[in-house]
Amino acid sequence: MTKYFHSVTLEKDKCRGCTNCIKHCPTEAIRVRNGKATIIKERCIDCGECIKVCPYHAKKAVTDSFELVQEYPYKIAIPAPSQYGQFGRDYSRDRILQGLLEIGFDWVLEVSKAAEIVTDATKQMLKSPELKKPVISSACPAVVRLVQVRFPTLIPNLVKIESPMELAARIAKNTAIRDKGIAKEDIGVFFISPCAAKVTSVKAPYEKKESSVNGVLSMKDIHIRLLEKMKNIPADIESPLVCSGYSGVGWARSGGESYALGNEQYLAVHGIHNVIKVLEEIVADRLEGVEFVEALSCTEGCLGGPLTVVNPFVARPNLKWEIKRAKETDFSRENSAKDYQDLLWTEDVEYKPILKLDNDMLKAMKKMQQLEAINEEMPGLDCGACGAPSCRALAEDIVRGLACETDCVFKLREKVSSLADQIKALVQNTKRRNE
Ligand code: SF4
Ligand code: SF4
Repeated sequence: MTKYFHSVTLEKDKCRGCTNCIKHCPTEAIRVRNGKATIIKERCIDCGECIKVCPYHAKKAVTDSFELVQEYPYKIAIPAPSQYGQFGRDYSRDRILQGLLEIGFDWVLEVSKAAEIVTDATKQMLKSPELKKPVISSACPAVVRLVQVRFPTLIPNLVKIESPMELAARIAKNTAIRDKGIAKEDIGVFFISPCAAKVTSVKAPYEKKESSVNGVLSMKDIHIRLLEKMKNIPADIESPLVCSGYSGVGWARSGGESYALGNEQYLAVHGIHNVIKVLEEIVADRLEGVEFVEALSCTEGCLGGPLTVVNPFVARPNLKWEIKRAKETDFSRENSAKDYQDLLWTEDVEYKPILKLDNDMLKAMKKMQQLEAINEEMPGLDCGACGAPSCRALAEDIVRGLACETDCVFKLREKVSSLADQIKALVQNTKRRNE
């Protein structure tokens, strides 16, 4: 039986059953029943859309607490490039990295350094004639999971190279063991994350058996702590921790990975619903002249992650400043991959069907016929009043035995009116008999 871990969860007490979230979920993973939302774990891709739209903050991403960091004798922070967009111009990357030391880490390794190595590996991979085009970036774990559940024919198109986060964690650990002689079990590597999907990819990785990351901290959770410490760090500090160039830093925004690749035949799309439209185009073979697709679940890419602090449109100019500064001291030439084969995924990413009605093929076909017949009778308004995102989703729930036809208000009205007619007829018949 498949085990699921999801960072995105519901705080039941806060949920008011408003149904706001059901329409925004890209995989129809949410239902509202008995006045409370529930998440269907097989369908959820941890994109975090429901966190962003819930007016009552009932959806949240579970991350690790800062206390977990203290459990490791040697603590390493690996900040996502989007971290640099969370502060204004006065807070340079040097200052931010030094700030991470001040809040309690022993060492910091930029994920943007690993992003440059991954870029180089992807460049090598793109030269392979066997590769199915267009190649789809695997930088966003929510998009990889979306492909798994909704676009299985595109699994061969995914770039099956370790993510910058995983690579950074591996480099950080190996360096601490080699250069400082620290025992592996004493090292705790913590990713500072902009999103829930990264938490899930650490706790339940798809590309390898076990993640090299020991914990994931939310950018939001450490923000104030970091800001307070940074205020005491001189604005013009030059930190020896800076080890990546502008191309790695640029990965934080939509189009950044494509820009780093230098491949002009690219398409960069952001926002999960836009991503779905582009993936549909690829499946329908309507995308011409595109070699590489950079698809990121959040608006403006990782800068728009649900665990970030600053609005992505504000974060983008902040990041631009950092990219400008990075261009003046470019390390990116040093961060190359020897051979991309060393960075390939060790596990196979499989299709995870979400519309499997039954394990028995014959029963499944019968249920599908029932589903179509029920759907045919539905009003087709997709109003969401029943707690399912669409009439078809309600029909599916009915076939699965999770809902009934009268959950639909229109069907309920029909039923009530038919019952009323029957009672009326019964009363009239009784009256006639008594006359
Ligand atoms: S948006 Fe969803 S989770 Fe939030 S209160 Fe409404 S039904 Fe509940
Ligand atoms: S995280 Fe995304 S896929 Fe999961 S329930 Fe929320 S909106 Fe749906």
